[in-house]
Amino acid sequence: MFTQDIPFNLKGGFKMIEIKMGEFFDEIKDRDVDVLIIGAGPAGLTAGMYAGRAGLKSFILEKGTIGGQLCLTDWVEDYPGFPDGIKAVELINLMKKHAENFGAKIVREEAKKIEILDNGLKKVITDSGEWKAKAVIVATGSYHRKLGVKGESELIGRGVSNCAVCDGPFFKEKDVVVVGGGDSAVTEAIYLTRFAKKVYLVHRRDKFRAQKFYVERAKNNPKIEFILDTIVTEIKGENKVEGVVLKNVKKGEIRELPCSAVFIFIGLIPNSEILKGIAKFDDRNAVITNDKMETGVPGIYAVGDVRSTPLRQAVTAASDGAIAAMMAESYISDLK
Ligand code: NAP
Repeated sequence: MFTQDIPFNLKGGFKMIEIKMGEFFDEIKDRDVDVLIIGAGPAGLTAGMYAGRAGLKSFILEKGTIGGQLCLTDWVEDYPGFPDGIKAVELINLMKKHAENFGAKIVREEAKKIEILDNGLKKVITDSGEWKAKAVIVATGSYHRKLGVKGESELIGRGVSNCAVCDGPFFKEKDVVVVGGGDSAVTEAIYLTRFAKKVYLVHRRDKFRAQKFYVERAKNNPKIEFILDTIVTEIKGENKVEGVVLKNVKKGEIRELPCSAVFIFIGLIPNSEILKGIAKFDDRNAVITNDKMETGVPGIYAVGDVRSTPLRQAVTAASDGAIAAMMAESYISDLK
């Protein structure tokens, strides 16, 4: 219904990470806007910044955490302009401040449905109201794929996690397992060595999707042990994680590995539901756009992780957001 002036906290274990919310403003009565942006990750915040700067009345809806997937990471070292790297939470706060400085407002609402009205306006129905927008930028990001094994849902929050930054500090001097072979798994495995006694990186192949640079860094970390060609078939434990059952896919061997936590990073699934029946999707359920971020429906754009794109980084998400906002500006001025 409204933004809050209290800090928005992400439980960061021993240290609270704060993403500061903007000014408090009353329930929004005027819900006719130029651009409605759904999602306040790097793509949505950058779209808000560019839309605001272009003089468009723009609001950003966010149902959860400002910063999206970036909140789940600790350190960003590949965002231009920060040669020594930057804490993810600091980068998010800067992006948020930048968007707000140019007039974008973030509202805590969950967008449920987009309808295209006869006059071309878009009606966005949320959990607490309706908006009318000339253009909509969908920046809804992605969520973590599940392994789908016994113990995974039962022990979530009790050793099973998708967030090393949030939960890593709870496993000081413990043995933990990380599952996956992409950038997320490898970078988070490296991060977890700050706390854990040992990090087992379990990957189903012997080749990594992660950038070579990260893989080399993990290989050189004495606390990380690679367990390759191996899948997790079960997560064991009564009230908390006590171990995993591993299966070597080449040899068929099955064994149990005791551990206190399992961090699962096996890919991201686009949060594209809101565009079902409106846009086209690739085989991953990511929204297909052209290079102007257009979905094919005039005035509806998709940006960031929700979009079908070969690279999912904060910088590409930000770039998508900038393009979409400028295309929306041009679309709106043509309506006049
Ligand atoms: P990803 O690149 O899609 O990698 C997913 C990994 O999980 C792959 O190694 C895959 O194995 C494995 N996997 C998938 N399903 C599995 C299953 N059912 N059981 C076991 N393993 C499974 O996902 P991500 O690492 O989350 O990265 C997502 C995007 O964010 C990527 O574009 C990545 O570059 C970006 N990212 C960037 C950074 C950075 O520092 N710049 C950090 C994090 C993420 P296969 O290889 O065998 O398919």
